[in-house]
Amino acid sequence: MRTDSVPLSGPSPGTTRTLTRHHWGLEGARPKVYLQGGLHADEMPGPLALFHLMSLLDTAEAEGRITGHVVVVPVANPIGLSEWLLHKPVGRRDLEGAHNFNRGYPDLAALAGDALEGRLGDDPQANVAIIREAFAAALAAVKPDTEVDELRIRLIQGSHDADIVLDLHCDHRAVMHFYASTARPEITDLLGRCTGSVLALIEDVSGGNAFDEAHTAPWRALRDRFGDRVPSPCFSTTLEYRGQGDVSDALAAQDADGLMAFLTAISALIGGPAPAHGTAEEMPLAGAVEFMAPMGGIVSWVTRPGDRVSEAQVLGHVTDAAARRRVEIRAPTMGLLFRQELWTTCLKGQGLCHVAGRDIRRQGDLLSD
Ligand SMILES: [Zn+2]
Repeated sequence: MRTDSVPLSGPSPGTTRTLTRHHWGLEGARPKVYLQGGLHADEMPGPLALFHLMSLLDTAEAEGRITGHVVVVPVANPIGLSEWLLHKPVGRRDLEGAHNFNRGYPDLAALAGDALEGRLGDDPQANVAIIREAFAAALAAVKPDTEVDELRIRLIQGSHDADIVLDLHCDHRAVMHFYASTARPEITDLLGRCTGSVLALIEDVSGGNAFDEAHTAPWRALRDRFGDRVPSPCFSTTLEYRGQGDVSDALAAQDADGLMAFLTAISALIGGPAPAHGTAEEMPLAGAVEFMAPMGGIVSWVTRPGDRVSEAQVLGHVTDAAARRRVEIRAPTMGLLFRQELWTTCLKGQGLCHVAGRDIRRQGDLLSD
């Protein structure tokens, strides 16, 4: 195991932070698998699962079972982790500009595309190496303005050349699910069977350039520009490890086993557990519909994440106790109620839950901000 520490320059005099990456296996070995947790710094199931995973990787390395290169960044957002406001962790957005830590990653195809003109040959595999070099050169030339921009660049500098990128998040209250593109369906299937995810939300381009999409969208864009000489070498996903309260050593150890099964299935190591779950149900991300609160009030539920619901089924209520008035929270589509908001109060117009259905109901940017 090797550890490298990447300093962030700090936003003000006397202030610095450090990004820590741990490596197992040989640099340059394939597949390169990159795992990070806590990019939204109020979502701790992922970092705890990675803490347990790292012990398993130590053992595998001592036994000579690592065949690829595994990189783990258990605390991907030291900026967000330090940001508390009014005795609560903020985590999802930076306090200076309120930007979502998981949006706005650099567009590698735009940064490196012109430099690739005239350099690509007929061998797609050789082109992968050329393109990854161009990505690295383009990232090295970026001069980030803010500490948060610098964090984004330093994170993707460690991951842009990975074959597999797993970004571990969680939701408010949710069943385990993940987001994936259509690029590598066989890996989508493996990931579901190894992690026990109930649901895979599928979309080619979700919008917003989240961390996962910043690794796959560039290959698609370069293929549009340069043709079939550009393959799809990267699988990247955001995994939602249930809800914010689902933080325990028992769950984290179980999730670390699931990740070891996945690392084994993709030949990053040998001798890990076999996939222990069924296939995740695949649904279009554009079919996941949110219910918006028609008024502010107390939020209470008669359903829970994981319930199958019919369209217009009553899921819960918003109650204005002062006016002695109550409205129903109804399923916006038929399908799987996979997430609910954590809070027990809401303002008018706030999203309260999502139901994943098969009918396409949305277009444009498909991610909540
Ligand atoms: Zn998140």
